[in-house]
Amino acid sequence: MKIPGALIWEPGTRSGWSVEEIELDDPKPNEVKVKLAASGICHSDDHVDTGDIPLGWGPILGGHEGAGEVVQVGSHVTDLEVGDHVVLSFLPSCGKCSMCVRGRSNMCVLGAGTLGGFAADGTHRVHARGVGVGPFSYLGTFAPYVTVSVDSAVKIPKDVPLEKAALIGCGVPTGWGSSVYAADIDLGATVVVFGVGGVGMNAVQGARHRGARNIIAVDPVAFKRDEAKTFGATHTCKNEDEAAELVAQLTNGQGADAVIITMGVADPKLMQPAGNMVHRGGTLVLTSAAKVGVQEMDFDLFTFAMSGKRLQGSLYGSTNSRYDIPLLADLYQRGELKLDELITRTYKLEGINTAVQDMREGRNIRGVIMFD
Ligand SMILES: [Zn+2]
Ligand SMILES: [Zn+2]
Repeated sequence: MKIPGALIWEPGTRSGWSVEEIELDDPKPNEVKVKLAASGICHSDDHVDTGDIPLGWGPILGGHEGAGEVVQVGSHVTDLEVGDHVVLSFLPSCGKCSMCVRGRSNMCVLGAGTLGGFAADGTHRVHARGVGVGPFSYLGTFAPYVTVSVDSAVKIPKDVPLEKAALIGCGVPTGWGSSVYAADIDLGATVVVFGVGGVGMNAVQGARHRGARNIIAVDPVAFKRDEAKTFGATHTCKNEDEAAELVAQLTNGQGADAVIITMGVADPKLMQPAGNMVHRGGTLVLTSAAKVGVQEMDFDLFTFAMSGKRLQGSLYGSTNSRYDIPLLADLYQRGELKLDELITRTYKLEGINTAVQDMREGRNIRGVIMFD
């Protein structure tokens, strides 16, 4: 089928997104076609344009945070049918590999090449100007329809509004799981979250779910600090110096139980001051993507070892998509997870470059592209 899609032909050149006609194929035996309701815009999409995440290939169809209705199923698909509602998981999970069966599906073998590029069999489902196009994260949600593997589609109940559910494909589990799983926050803990955008705001929600006593949201943008309070932050401040002072005051100088880094681009200069804020035996979680290739940071190794701290990287909030996506949808339905408030602005696909600019300038918690 011929549909519009937002492409980048030369990743890393800051060309912006080109909205043009693409050709989307029908599903192969283990794939489904999904009519999307909405697609969130995540920093990772922009990293492809800026070159912070260098891609060795192009063109790319952007977008990896979407939800919609199944409109066509491949001949071998048994667990999804036409009319089902699905959230697209930006990491596929096979359910069979050693990590999936141990309950760590964010480390599934299929996700290792998560930037996508082509379908699992090495061929393309998307074409433009006569060449194959690689959809981001095997999804490519910057188009009104996607053809994806069943390993990337997670069924949710039909009464969850799809345009809200789209956010459960990346930003919500990534932030929420950073608190709940990666930091494993205890009741009564003191937690610091650096960067409260579309990911960090959900780390705040996760910390609240775990019963954290003090939740300190750190962000240079006043609007985001104000919003953070409605998501459960007990304190807000602008930078790491203010955060360190607050942590010291709130913990009698002992430090935070967990510090979680969820800003748009990880800053190696933040690692030491953030690590210093963690008390003995506590956890520093790095969720943000750094510019690929950044390999150096100042870090006091002696003190780190002697204070028994844990440095934990977190991909997809260390969640299991087939368990956590339906759980998050249910928490939303019960009024215990805020999704509506995450969506600051909505856009048409044609307005995607404005949406990306709004994200870069900190005007949105999440900007969302709505399809008809
Ligand atoms: Zn994302
Ligand atoms: Zn797997």
